[in-house]
Amino acid sequence: MPNNPAETATHMHSAVLHASGAARPYATSRPLTLEHLEIPAPRAGEVLVKIERASLCHSDLSVINGSRPRPLPMVLGHEASGTIAGVGPGMTDVPMGSKVVLVFVPSCGDCRACAAGRPALCHRAAESNGTGDLLHGPAALSGADGTRINHHLGVSAFSQYAVVARESVVVIEDDVPFDVAAMFGCAALTGIGAVLNTAKVLPRQSVIVFGLGAVGLMSVMAAAQIPGTTVIAIDPLAEKQALALKCGAHVAGSPAEAAALVAAHAGDGVDVAVEAVGSARVIENCLGLLTRGGALVSVGLPHPDQRLDVQALQFAGMGKRLLGSYMGDANPAIDIPAYVAMWRAGRLPVELLHTDTKPADELNEGLDALADGLVVRRLFDFGS
Ligand SMILES: [Zn+2]
Ligand SMILES: [Zn+2]
Repeated sequence: MPNNPAETATHMHSAVLHASGAARPYATSRPLTLEHLEIPAPRAGEVLVKIERASLCHSDLSVINGSRPRPLPMVLGHEASGTIAGVGPGMTDVPMGSKVVLVFVPSCGDCRACAAGRPALCHRAAESNGTGDLLHGPAALSGADGTRINHHLGVSAFSQYAVVARESVVVIEDDVPFDVAAMFGCAALTGIGAVLNTAKVLPRQSVIVFGLGAVGLMSVMAAAQIPGTTVIAIDPLAEKQALALKCGAHVAGSPAEAAALVAAHAGDGVDVAVEAVGSARVIENCLGLLTRGGALVSVGLPHPDQRLDVQALQFAGMGKRLLGSYMGDANPAIDIPAYVAMWRAGRLPVELLHTDTKPADELNEGLDALADGLVVRRLFDFGS
């Protein structure tokens, strides 16, 4: 493998999930097991990434607890940063050693959604992500006994190396630390994109954000850097409220305080509500907090069984809009470099969301901390 500096390494440690629904605490049930897998060679259209940092995101937790069923076994992890360690045959556009952010929708460029300028909704990526395959070919991972192991959202970053579609990486400048870079993948695209791409928040508008995990806090940062906005941040946990104020929120409070905060700071309602909880009840509540013509952006992923019960008249009668936002309606190749530039200019202090960095063998303990709301972004070091 002349293109592959990993030529001395033939195997890697990867965190495999064999079954969902493990009991809490995960530190005891240990649903993720670090296994010794063969490093696959990148095929045509693919690259080999040496993973440096991978984050635990709620979407990983949703696969582990079974609320987002995925084909198993699977190597989880979809928010990560690393360097290019190998390229498939004939590929010349990604130099070896490039620093990259991993992206969880590898858009194909020519399906209906891509042709319409909405790569986050790529039909082919949705299909391959759903089956645990890669965009350009079947799953490349396998266990010691030859069993197929699925990819998580085309990435599978809880691993020392990941083979992914070229479309799953965005090259960034070398000066961005790996810890910061990782968070530009899932959390930044989703949270910032919800505000800038989906809601298209304008100067002097009022914005309320429900759910102050990494995605919601990215939404807070994005809304706060638009001139003259009023940003209200809502979460049951006081620590998250305090962090939202550091991220630029003008006021923060609990869900019970939301209506009073809107009345005090946004008159008869907010222009934009971002729902980053993933709850039908919260979506209903947010609709009631919108002013005439206001928009609710649904970012969180409610359980598939949840249903809405809302007054139907408010959409036509008051011009309210309910907007779904997957991966922030982002075009990662354009938006990630743009968000990095905003970070460099001091407008997106994403370091505030980085709780800590732990060794890769503490992933299961990290699941408990995330489920309990004790951490925002805990990163795992796969590079050493
Ligand atoms: Zn995620
Ligand atoms: Zn497509």
